[in-house]
Order: sequence, then C-alpha cells, then structure tokens
Amino acid sequence: MTASAATEPRRKSASLISGATGDWEVVIGLEVHAQVNSRAKLFSGASTEFGSAPNSNVSLVDAAMPGMLPVINRECVAQAVRTGLGLKAGINLVSVFDRKNYFYPDLPQGYQISQYKQPIVGEGEVEIDVDGDVIRVGIERLHLEQDAGKSIHDQSPEHSFVDLNRSGVALMEIVSRPDLRSAREAQAYVTKLRTILRYLGTCDGDMEKGNLRADVNVSVRKPGAPFGTRCEIKNVNSIRFIGQAVETEARRQIAIIEDGGRIDQETRLFDPQKGETRSMRSKEEAHDYRYFPDPDLLPLELEQSWVDELAKGLPELPDAKRARFMDAYGLSPYDAAVLVAERESADYFEAVVAGGKAGPVDGKLAANWVINELFGRLNKEGLEIGKSPVSAGQIGAIVGLITSGTISGKIAKDLFEIVWAEGGDPVTIVETRGMKQVTDTGALEKAVDDIIAKNPDKVEQVKAKPTMLGWFVGQVMKASGGKANPQAVNDILKAKLGI
Ligand code: ADP
Ligand code: MG
Repeated sequence: MTASAATEPRRKSASLISGATGDWEVVIGLEVHAQVNSRAKLFSGASTEFGSAPNSNVSLVDAAMPGMLPVINRECVAQAVRTGLGLKAGINLVSVFDRKNYFYPDLPQGYQISQYKQPIVGEGEVEIDVDGDVIRVGIERLHLEQDAGKSIHDQSPEHSFVDLNRSGVALMEIVSRPDLRSAREAQAYVTKLRTILRYLGTCDGDMEKGNLRADVNVSVRKPGAPFGTRCEIKNVNSIRFIGQAVETEARRQIAIIEDGGRIDQETRLFDPQKGETRSMRSKEEAHDYRYFPDPDLLPLELEQSWVDELAKGLPELPDAKRARFMDAYGLSPYDAAVLVAERESADYFEAVVAGGKAGPVDGKLAANWVINELFGRLNKEGLEIGKSPVSAGQIGAIVGLITSGTISGKIAKDLFEIVWAEGGDPVTIVETRGMKQVTDTGALEKAVDDIIAKNPDKVEQVKAKPTMLGWFVGQVMKASGGKANPQAVNDILKAKLGI
C-alpha cells in the first residue's frame, strides 16, 4: 500500500509523539481474532462451552485421529456472513479453506485449517468516533479458521499439559487496514468492533475469557513520509493493554530510529507487568506455513439467496440506532453513543421512553435519567444493567411524574432512592408518602411572603442584582422540604419583588 500521507488531513485524535528529532506519527493496523458464537466447533460437533473439564469437549476430529474428516458447521459460516454484512463488507460466494502448517504440541493435526487467498469476507469498514472526528477504518478481509488447543505448564518443570477443548473452535480473523493513528484510535476501533459483534450475536467479545484478542501492528513515520517498517505485537487481550502496547512500541521504535538504527520487521509480545514489548521472533525466523488448499474440504460455495436471507435477519446496528436516537428523541451525539454502546442499555432506554402506565415520556429527560442517575448508581454498586433493581418501567414512571409536574426533580431523586431500596410503584409511593409537588399558589405565596419579610437586606440587594433571585428560590424550596414547584416559586417571587 502506498501512503497518501501528504494529502491526508490531520485529525485531533491522531496525536503526534515528540522525539529528539521532531514529531512522529504512529501507524496501526489490527488483526482481531473473534471466537464465533456457536454451540459446536467449526468442523466437528464437539461443544464449545467455556470452563468445561479439560479434554471433555474433544471429538475424534479435534484430536486429529487418523482417517477422521472435517465437516463444516453451517452455523459458523452463517455467523461469519452476518459479521461481514455488519461490517458493510462484500461476501465472497466462493471461498477456500487452506492448511497452515506448523508444529506445536497443542495442534494435533500439525496444521490449522484457515483461509488464505480466498477468504469468506472481503473489504468493509468500521466507523469510529474519537473527539468528534468520524474516522472510517478500512477492513481488508475476514476469514474463518480453527483455534488451537491450550498448553498448560505446571510449576514443576517436568510437567506440561495439553487441553484440547479449544482445539477446532471457530475463529473469525478480522484484518483492518493500517488506518489508525493513535493508541486511542486503536482502542476506539476494538471497542466499536466488539460492540458490533455483540449486537450481531456473532461473538461474545469477552476479552477476559480470551474470546476476543488482537494482534497489533505498529510502525512510526514522520508526518507525510511513507509508512515505516512494522512490528506485530501478538495476542493482546484487553483494551487497556492495546493502548499501552501501541504507546510503548511506538516509543521503542522512535528511540531506535533516532539513535541511527532501523526497525526490523518482527513479532513481539507485550508484557503487561513490565509495560514493554519484547521480541518473539524476527522476520528471518518467520514460519513458512506452506499454505495449500485442504484436500479434505471442497471450496465453500454460498447461495446469494441465503446471504440475502441472513441480511434480512440482522438487528439494527449501533450506528443506525444512534442516528435514530438522535433523530427521534433529540439526543446529543454523546448521549446517544453512551446508550447504544451496549444493546441492553439501548433496549432499556427505549423501555423507559415507553413510560409507565401514563404512557410515553420525553426522550431527552429519559436519557438523562438513565445515563446520570441509573448508570451512575449501577457503576457505584458495580452492577450490570441486567441486574438493576430499578426496572425501565419504574424509571419511566418517575420521569412521567416529573414531566406532569407531580414531583420536582429533587424529589424525583429521593423517589429513585426509595424505589432502588424498596421497589414498588413510583406513582403509589408519591401518593402514600405525600411527595407531591406543591403548585397551590396560595400556599406558595405564603411561603414567599415569609422569606421576603425575614430578609429585607436581601430584598434590597436582589433589586440591584437580579441573579440573586436563585437564593430566594432556594430558601422557599428548603422551607417546603423540596416539594414546592420551582417554576411557580420563581414566577411568584418575580411578581412580588417587581423584577
Ligand atoms: P501480512 O500478510 O504479512 O500479515 P498484511 O498486509 O496482511 O501483512 O498486514 C497485516 C496487518 O498489518 C494489517 O492489519 C495491516 O493493516 C497492518 N499493517 C500493514 N502495514 C503496516 C504498517 N506499515 N504499519 C502498521 N501496520 C501495518
Ligand atoms: Mg496478514
């Protein structure tokens, strides 16, 4: 690929790293391995369940017994196609499985079945949003391949164990173009990709369980210069580590070049404890995988009508949902992005908007409540939205009570606390505990008169400085135990003070 760097507009999130010889730009491309969400493996019927007893989910195919033949799992293919469609990518109706040959104790076949020259999915893109810049990250390809087993090395040096439960589980390798220009952009890309996969239901995206991991390719250059030589950092397994790996690797490369050296293309490992990358193997030691088409498998041929059917079954994806939330509910881009980051929170929000018994409520106010009150509280307690003690219907009812003027925003927060701790119907709680807002003008006028009578000095001040009015509103609110309607108080005060 040639770099069209000179014409490439700079974006805010493409932060430069300053070195002794001036500013440097980092260039990143990612190869993400995503475990396909499927009950059975790519070429066998064995279970993919996580955390089973070692070697309990192993068929004769997975153990590479002589004479066993792979049979492709239709659901894994469908998941790859769905993912391709979700990445706005071209689906290749003919693709080929190849053998990638290498020796490792946890690879009993002596080769991994993968796709090389003819992958199932071609070019696509992922849109990310960093600091208000919308960046289109190119997807080069997506291919299907088998995962390997797992070697476990015991404390005592004589013992190593092999667990083949993961052997043969389907992976999608999603390769991006070198379109990313900072650690934050790389993190935003993986976060967004994970969100899309979760919406599609094609991968759990659980990095702690290792079902989403990234090979991070990093190079540096002077802005405007052609791409530099890249190093590939293998198997980085958290969003935070991806950011750290990019930063430390870029600085390592800058130091070498500024010292008069040059970068050798190599494969490196990120050590999170030390916060540095170290060499795993150089280009000279790179494997020759001797790829060739797997003679046990015919080329994979898909029918366009089947692909079309899968396309029809796709859910609304995060970008479309975000645009709809902004359009239909008047949400800010930021609020809409927060709500659509997880499908559960987007669904929860829409259930809040549907409201309680009194019907639909204002979307903006609903979004405020979900993001500030509910998410704030869930975070504090370390709870997921699925475990929220307050249901969407309950928040909808609280928002409805505010909108109708039945309770003030302040009382609504108390009400939220009660519902969080005790449950119950917000409308009934407001009735039985006398939490209704006082809009009765007579009662409010009396309260206002009291405050005015007690504070003649403040009355003089407010006439010169009308912003002091807030102090009076606050006093009346306090006297009413938060139940006075602030707007009504404001109006009465203005009339009585003549401002
Ligand atoms: P290979 O075939 O050797 O694996 P690819 O062209 O497939 O190489 O690239 C692998 C990954 O490396 C891709 O994600 C790509 O975006 C990224 N990449 C390629 N060139 C560079 C570069 N100069 N700097 C950073 N990343 C790069
Ligand atoms: Mg590659």
